[in-house]
Amino acid sequence: MPIGLHIFYAVLAFVLGSVIGSFLNVVILRTPLHQSIVTEPSHCFSCGHRLAWYDMFPIFSWIFLRGKCRYCGSKISPRYMIIEATTAVLYCLSYLIFGLKLELAFSAVLMAVLIVLSAIDIDRFEIPYWCSITVAVLGVAAIFVFKETPWYERLIAMGIILVVFVLLVLVGGMGGGDLQLMLGASLLLGYKVFIALFIGVFFGAIYGTLKKFHDREAEKEVSEKIKGLVEEWYQNQVDLGCGYVTEGNEDTIVGSISEGDPDIEWEFLEEKVWKGLPEKAALSKTLRENVTDEREGGFKIIIKGDKIERVKYSRRMVFGPFLGLGIAASWLVGTQILGWYLSLMH
Ligand SMILES: [Zn+2]
Repeated sequence: MPIGLHIFYAVLAFVLGSVIGSFLNVVILRTPLHQSIVTEPSHCFSCGHRLAWYDMFPIFSWIFLRGKCRYCGSKISPRYMIIEATTAVLYCLSYLIFGLKLELAFSAVLMAVLIVLSAIDIDRFEIPYWCSITVAVLGVAAIFVFKETPWYERLIAMGIILVVFVLLVLVGGMGGGDLQLMLGASLLLGYKVFIALFIGVFFGAIYGTLKKFHDREAEKEVSEKIKGLVEEWYQNQVDLGCGYVTEGNEDTIVGSISEGDPDIEWEFLEEKVWKGLPEKAALSKTLRENVTDEREGGFKIIIKGDKIERVKYSRRMVFGPFLGLGIAASWLVGTQILGWYLSLMH
């Protein structure tokens, strides 16, 4: 291919990526709200002013308007521009790596899905089911299309990922959505899925450590607040004699805060160490009314006899974007990473 044409295609992939990226922004914002993607015209989220085509020019509109709405001057999150730019770069890279081959079409779908699921996971702590399904569909298609990776390699990779992930989910940190995503990814990547897993866990762990450090004070405050509320409630239970942990026994109550709404997972109550049953609804209610500033997290309440021994709250962390990064890297340059790694061993 003449070099001029090559450059033309690369630029085209970038521009197309930026346009797809601005569509992905709409998908990310509207999908979880069950709003229609197509029918509603784009508008400023602050003043409601309808946006003209030149306000929605991918990447560049945000830069020229310096991140502000043209009509009301309110700030527009840089996230829109970041998503457009990321899609553009990934599409351009996909073309440069695969050329005009079938892999390019797979890449276009895969990169779009990974970006969407990362953003939705950050917003809502959940990877949409349809995103994992799409990755799995690409994986099944890959079995028939890319035969240089044998089907059994893909299945073995999937089996190992399943075992590894059951452990990771049990240890904590990873969720069921992460598992679904990685099962589909193993069909798509074969053994290269382990590169994706390694990259995801590596960067996820770095982020998790920094986040833990950053959130420590806030988590402590919330723990103390919950402890105060639980103590008051529990004292009431003891005084009324209606439900408390019998002397010498211990129980752990687990709860979570999801979308700003705290609740207790009462099904984990170990009823045999309790005398009678506590007023469950009363505790749920007081938590819901008083713990209002936290968005996502989990807590443990350890009750020993007639006193609350300890309350520990931790903010939830997302893994989706890190797994997404790993899958993208493994899909695009997994073979090169593997080659580099093997050359280090010699
Ligand atoms: Zn506005």
